[in-house]
Amino acid sequence: MSFEEKRRRLISMLENERYIITDKVKKAMLKVPRELFVTEEYRNLSYSDRPLPIGHGQTISAPSIVAYMTELLKAEVGHKVLEIGTGSGYQAAVLAEVVAPDKIQKKFWGHVFSVERIPELAKLAIRNLSKAGYSNRVTVIVGDGTEGFKDEAPYDRIIVTAAAPDIPEPLLDQLKPGGIMVIPIGSKWEQNLVVIEKEQGERVKIRRDIDVIFVPLIGKHGWDEFCR
Ligand code: SAM
Repeated sequence: MSFEEKRRRLISMLENERYIITDKVKKAMLKVPRELFVTEEYRNLSYSDRPLPIGHGQTISAPSIVAYMTELLKAEVGHKVLEIGTGSGYQAAVLAEVVAPDKIQKKFWGHVFSVERIPELAKLAIRNLSKAGYSNRVTVIVGDGTEGFKDEAPYDRIIVTAAAPDIPEPLLDQLKPGGIMVIPIGSKWEQNLVVIEKEQGERVKIRRDIDVIFVPLIGKHGWDEFCR
């Protein structure tokens, strides 16, 4: 069976299981070739719904989680999105398909800024994103994403794809009023996906969603190197 056929089958399963709810997320998931973001040795597992190792003790998240976090984020065409934890670049590509779909004129495109703390993974993501055709819609930055990325702030949407002990204050500051942030929060072993809506003014609404397991967010406003 071709990768394309496997992708269609997986996406139909994710729709049945309600990880995919909207047409725009379905289209984005159908468009991005996950096989280009998975390392050679795991390529045959590209369309099994599981996280896979990408080196340096990190993983590309399971497609169901990528789809569901994209749904929770409610991103729209033209939005400026900040992702913390680029990893393979796959989630960033899916977000790029939502905020800057290629059938829409470039002048209406949004952009994804994605911060990765491990330089070798940032390089890998840049290569993957280029192969898949997303270089002009995603910018990868090496750094501590718990500090956000001030140069392009404020953002319409912020997504964190590593587990935090709490909401990093700089990320909240860099979210626009009316903006939404999705972030896994909890212990090192298990977390909840938390959806934060910044209302006009500085009020925030916080809602806990499903249980998840992510690798730790390591940085000044996250865990330390020893996960304390
Ligand atoms: N979104 C990725 C994808 O689509 O492949 C998966 C992300 S992986 C589960 C978590 C990533 O967060 C790892 O690559 C890890 O190095 C990165 N990370 C952890 N702490 C970070 C920090 N403070 N700033 C930026 N990236 C961080």
